[in-house]
Amino acid sequence: MALFNTEAIVLRSINLSETDKLVTFMTDKFGKVKCVAKAARKLKNRFGAALEPMSHIRLIYFGKENQSLYRLNHSDIIRSFQPVRDDFRKLYIGIYFNELVETLVAEAHPERKVFRLLVETLETLETLDKSETLIRLSEMQFLCLSGYTPQLSYCALCKGPPGTGWVGFSFEHKGIVCEPCSFRAQPEVRFKVGILSYLKKLKTLDIKHAGRLKFPQGAEGEIEKVTHRLILSHTGREFKSYPFIKNMAQIAKDPASWKNKS
Ligand SMILES: [Zn+2]
Repeated sequence: MALFNTEAIVLRSINLSETDKLVTFMTDKFGKVKCVAKAARKLKNRFGAALEPMSHIRLIYFGKENQSLYRLNHSDIIRSFQPVRDDFRKLYIGIYFNELVETLVAEAHPERKVFRLLVETLETLETLDKSETLIRLSEMQFLCLSGYTPQLSYCALCKGPPGTGWVGFSFEHKGIVCEPCSFRAQPEVRFKVGILSYLKKLKTLDIKHAGRLKFPQGAEGEIEKVTHRLILSHTGREFKSYPFIKNMAQIAKDPASWKNKS
């Protein structure tokens, strides 16, 4: 038996039995791990709120090395991200970031950069009012850290420069496609070549500076098509939290759409 001591973010917490919970963590040192939290559903349990999704905690768990399920021993809250929980819109965006990590990261692979990015993403979400650029930044950066970096510098087919007019993005070829190659590749998205510089910025900009980035008017949709649909092309399914985030963004833009829904 080994004892593991690390920082972690709670990704998901589900009821396992009348008394126990099954909790998935993104840890700093050991990657994504699952633990059984004995008696966590009892009213006076020793874990308290430290097993709520998004909590940044100090975690101690034990078990044999390389097993798939561990036993939770101790958890202390470092940061609860309460302002994110208190704001319905931010809460769902936070859940989306958790879902991204849970889906893109394999279990038991130490991924310190993913852990740090998740912490910084939640910290930024807590203070930032406009979250559109933060969502795109984190999608792109989680993709790159998970080994799914899209090709944005040259055509994924002919390796030539992207040209000066329009450029396509092919999910099959995981990158941009120049105008002449578009007849062959049939890219799902097309946009003006100027948008490429914003997509490239998403790869490198420090997530803490998300508030500084502004997309050109009308380009948000194209940028979302590339980053979000690229994720879907890897995961094969939509995330539970995402339709809600889209609805909330639509209502913020056009409050009348809320009336039409009800
Ligand atoms: Zn080409």
